[in-house]
Amino acid sequence: MKKVSLVIPMYYEEKVAEECYKRTKKVLEDLKDYEHEIIFINDGSKDKTLEILEGIAKKDENVKVISFSRNFGHQAAVTAGLKEVTGDAIVIIDADLQDPPELIPDMLKLWEEGNEVIYGKRKTRSGESVFKLMTAKMFYNTLNALSDVDIPKDTGDFRLVDRKVVDSMNNLPEHNKFLRGLWSWLGYKQYAFEYERKERFAGETKYPLKKMLKLASDGIISFSSKPIKLVGLLGIISIAISFIILIYALVSYIFKLNQLSAGWTSLMVAITFFAGVQLLSLWIMSEYIGRIYDETKGRPQYIVDKKINIENNQ
Ligand code: UDP
Ligand code: MG
Repeated sequence: MKKVSLVIPMYYEEKVAEECYKRTKKVLEDLKDYEHEIIFINDGSKDKTLEILEGIAKKDENVKVISFSRNFGHQAAVTAGLKEVTGDAIVIIDADLQDPPELIPDMLKLWEEGNEVIYGKRKTRSGESVFKLMTAKMFYNTLNALSDVDIPKDTGDFRLVDRKVVDSMNNLPEHNKFLRGLWSWLGYKQYAFEYERKERFAGETKYPLKKMLKLASDGIISFSSKPIKLVGLLGIISIAISFIILIYALVSYIFKLNQLSAGWTSLMVAITFFAGVQLLSLWIMSEYIGRIYDETKGRPQYIVDKKINIENNQ
């Protein structure tokens, strides 16, 4: 019998955990032709999330739990889950039930028809602030303009993927995986599955602006080297501008158009401008060097503190 695996990351989701289990379990039990497992990842929550998950895992041997030693972020949590899945079809879904688990049977049908990555594309996003919608749109537009692979807009991590795609993902040596982009990068037969994104079942978003910015910069930097090339362009522009100023100064001197001492302003403008360009360039470069540094350290993306119902308890 084929098996479906669910990967569900949780960060401070005590209000949601029980309901999330109930709703996903119901969907899975109704799928008579498939075995199932649910892998919950506790991403370092310090509330009752882990306790609740442990309780569920005790009663249901198809529930596996991975608990991180601290908060390593959503992408790390999903990555850890993917390493443990044993199913043939793998579904990644948020804990807060914004992505309805009731859609899983339809996604499975598409999978049986030969699609290998069935990604959820949000038709509507109810209950999300104008700010969130705007920033999300800006992010996807920038990312697509900058990067070489097409990353579909309005998609999150909600998707069903085939075993072999997960194997390919797990074999990528990168430590800081930006999953949403990597799924497209991996290729395979992709299918956009439109759905309506609901409001959060309970609790608040765990993606404050700071985390969103980190995700955005991870996405852009791991999928594009254009920003670093922009540094070169900035350099050329600034040299051109300095030539123009130089010529202007010479012309003023030769034809005695105005006194050069008046050049104090232009000098100051030039100095501050170039200092700005240099700092900006340094900043962009340091973003890349920082990532190279991170990757060479070879530190894992997360540390597992505890595993429940999972055999290879390393
Ligand atoms: N999440 C996580 N670690 C984090 C932040 C979020 O595991 O550091 C989980 C969270 O519990 C949820 C999913 O990632 O299951 C998506 O988070 P959220 O619903 O808060 O994001 P939003 O839907 O607002 O973008
Ligand atoms: Mg959510």
